[in-house]
Amino acid sequence: MSFESILGQSQPKKILTNALQNSSVAHAYLFYGPESVGKKKLAIALAKALNCKGADPLDACDECESCRKIERGIHPDFFYLEPVKSTPTSREAVIKIEAIRELQKKLAYLPYEGKTKVVVIDSAELMNPQAMNSFLKTLEEPPSSTVLLLISSNPNRMLPTLLSRCQGIQFHRLASSDIRTIIQSQSQEEGKPWTESELDFRVHRSQGSVDRAMAEDIDEIENLREQLLEVLEKVSFDRMDIVFAFAKAWARHTEQLQSVLNELLGLIRDLALYRSGCAQSDIQNGDLSATMIPIAQTRSLKAWLDRFTAVRNTQIALSGNANAQLFLENMLIEFCEAA
Ligand SMILES: [Zn+2]
Repeated sequence: MSFESILGQSQPKKILTNALQNSSVAHAYLFYGPESVGKKKLAIALAKALNCKGADPLDACDECESCRKIERGIHPDFFYLEPVKSTPTSREAVIKIEAIRELQKKLAYLPYEGKTKVVVIDSAELMNPQAMNSFLKTLEEPPSSTVLLLISSNPNRMLPTLLSRCQGIQFHRLASSDIRTIIQSQSQEEGKPWTESELDFRVHRSQGSVDRAMAEDIDEIENLREQLLEVLEKVSFDRMDIVFAFAKAWARHTEQLQSVLNELLGLIRDLALYRSGCAQSDIQNGDLSATMIPIAQTRSLKAWLDRFTAVRNTQIALSGNANAQLFLENMLIEFCEAA
């Protein structure tokens, strides 16, 4: 993809185009912002633009040999690093120091085929401390004819010394209209075009992220939302059976727990918005308005906000190694208290 064909992110594109125009491309950039909004696409477009053999000096042609090699990840001056799991069962993928050392060796040489070597480090916050420290040396003494692009949706996990040596470019959530265009064309490419109502549903729930819009399993979500709304509506000190049944059932699904709690947050957020009379356009689960509006009225705005806080606190606790069942029970007891 070229800059021109990437939807949204007009500010990052403008910064980079200006830099190309003024021959003032920085040695290192940090592309940061929410997941799946085009950071990697723009990084690859910049790599192409810097090496393109086409006529436009400010954008990639997407057709020349260089552009095609970068697209396929086989250009000898283009390096892409991403976290890998050391074993299939590892909890988190990391970028290890060995990968950084390997990269540093390759950066010691002049560009082989192109004009500029480009390094893209995706999810750069997942470099382990040794890798970050080692990479810091590369940032301190950047090799010639090299542009380093770090991508992160969580830059606060990176060393401040590392951040301070990169020019930061902030990415924002995509507009609904852009998400719609992107997922519509992807579903067409895959030969399974979505209906208008399915597109609406996905765009509504995307929170500005393409991956999220693409990944939704509609049947599963409908089922889950139904269960969660029932809990939100019925749980009380008279219905402690719901507390224990819910906590017991979900404590077993540790892998899905955070996304279930995210779903719960989304629903509570909408209920709080309905309770305070906000416009329909802000509602994520707009298709359930007929069910949700009456539920929203059963409690005060403060009660919904207290429940929201209870879920957030539970998410934070569960991101450590807390006992899931116990914390879910506590959360639901707080729901009962927030009447
Ligand atoms: Zn080209």
